Amino acid sequence: MSDLGNSKPRLSVGYIVSLPHSGSTILGYNLSEHPDVVFLGEVGYALADLASSQALGGTPLYCSCQQPVDQCAFWSGVVRRLPECRDQDSGYRVVVDEFLSLYGTAKTLIDSNKTVEPARFLCSMDNLRVRCIHTVRDVRGAAVSEARRKAKRHPNRPQWLTATQASFQWMRKNLRNERSFSTLATAEFHTTSYEKICSQTAGEIEAIWRFLGLTPRSYVGDESLQNSHLLSGNRLASSGRSRVPVYDERWRKTLIWWPSMFLFPILPLLNRRWVYS
Ligand SMILES: [Zn+2]
Repeated sequence: MSDLGNSKPRLSVGYIVSLPHSGSTILGYNLSEHPDVVFLGEVGYALADLASSQALGGTPLYCSCQQPVDQCAFWSGVVRRLPECRDQDSGYRVVVDEFLSLYGTAKTLIDSNKTVEPARFLCSMDNLRVRCIHTVRDVRGAAVSEARRKAKRHPNRPQWLTATQASFQWMRKNLRNERSFSTLATAEFHTTSYEKICSQTAGEIEAIWRFLGLTPRSYVGDESLQNSHLLSGNRLASSGRSRVPVYDERWRKTLIWWPSMFLFPILPLLNRRWVYS
């Protein structure tokens, strides 16, 4: 690990917490349009994928920079040090170390790891300044999207039932994330939503850049400006991902989310608080 004391500049980390399929990847890509941002995707999962692909000796992973992992400017350094990555914490140390050796503290690292736990470890590192971004998706969109995905595997299961269960999980997990923030050793939080990112993209991305302490600039939505090293299973997956916000409006064409609103009357209140306030 780099020997940076408290008196020296700290590496700025933007840590995205969200439920799956809530726009955290799109958010990370679009934040990386800023020249002082590098988006690494879900760092914890990337480390686990690297370890298993090395152990299995299979096809090399590809990076969103369009290089195989062993030729990627960022991850190739981590691959060389994989034996040091014995668990998630030691893996994160190697990632931070490699990031500092490549970019110093001039760039902000964006991790869309989703869960709060790795942020707890990052907050404990003296050479980092961690700011958390909580992204929530409209409960109706989240529930319908989950019901549609599960219907492919369980076509006979009523979709309203899956949507109701998904709505309950949306409430439980977002409340848990919110509570976990109070136990983190950082007081810096920003709440956004998939809806804001899609409908007010420039304003929201620029607000998060300000929150991250970055030099103000105008968001233009140009994918070619994005600077990301996000691992994917193969070259096609690494090149085929959408990197601009496009709103998934399928929930407007169905009522399968309705029963959850009757069963859990607090849902509309939480939805308004997290997504639209
Ligand atoms: Zn790369």
